[in-house]
Amino acid sequence: MFQSNRHEHASGFIEFRTESLTGIRTRICPERVKRGIGVPDIPEYSEEGCPFCPEKVCQVTPVFPDGSRLKVGDSITFPNLYPFAHYHTVTVMSGEHVVRRFTYDLIHNALSGQIRAMKDQSGYVSINWNYLPSAGASLPHPHLQGLCDAVPDTLLMKYLRGSLEYYNEHNQSWWNYLKESESQTERCLKGTDLFWYAHHVPVGEKEIRCILPATTVSDFQASVSLFSEDLIRILEFYQDMGHGAWNMSIFFATDDEREYFSAFATLVARINPNPLSTSDTAFMEKLHLEPVILTLPEDLGNIWRNCNGNQ
Ligand SMILES: [Zn+2]
Repeated sequence: MFQSNRHEHASGFIEFRTESLTGIRTRICPERVKRGIGVPDIPEYSEEGCPFCPEKVCQVTPVFPDGSRLKVGDSITFPNLYPFAHYHTVTVMSGEHVVRRFTYDLIHNALSGQIRAMKDQSGYVSINWNYLPSAGASLPHPHLQGLCDAVPDTLLMKYLRGSLEYYNEHNQSWWNYLKESESQTERCLKGTDLFWYAHHVPVGEKEIRCILPATTVSDFQASVSLFSEDLIRILEFYQDMGHGAWNMSIFFATDDEREYFSAFATLVARINPNPLSTSDTAFMEKLHLEPVILTLPEDLGNIWRNCNGNQ
């Protein structure tokens, strides 16, 4: 699955890892965790001028071509006013500015809204979430963003290319091999409905992935209930470890890639909002395109087992 190379130094070690399929590289430096992630400092938002508050959202946000916005439970989905994809939608999950514990309904309604808004698009769809300003959220109210473009984004492209090469060479899906292989390791997060594991070459802190029984966003309808139940547990796991902010992306492909690609979700924990705007992303991530991670994925698996009765 990956190559690793550990460099010992006076106060600990750095582990360099490279994922075999994609060539993606990362470096893991557990000693740096002692610098701390900060305590959650969720900002107080004013209601003034907030376009996602219930009384405003239907007046100031764009509508779909038929003049509608899509409501599922308390969630509301509409086109993004400032798109950065050919098709870009927003789902406001809640009328509340701040949600501290996410319920099944909140997650399931919002994901269902995204699926309905994205399923008829042709191209590469992703469903994404920045939670809290330190994770990139620019407005209050937790909200998801659906993107669709004709060409896959950089990360998805690496997995699509790698998966096709692997399939041609081995006549089986890399994703099945991944599940088989990861389920034998301490990175596997057992006790969930779908397959979740701490990713072996993390691109972000405490990266956790779910391999979905799906390829396209339409397929996702069949497993969105199980996914929502699992996701609540993963978010509580992050919160129990002190992380109040995160990014999530769920990547889908097209019917043409069904034989060799599985849709997958990935989550990374982000630094908590803090008064100095200290960032967890610096020259290594932004300019070298090489993440520096604090937590070994194997340690994350162990914390999960400790929190979930040693499964
Ligand atoms: Zn608001």
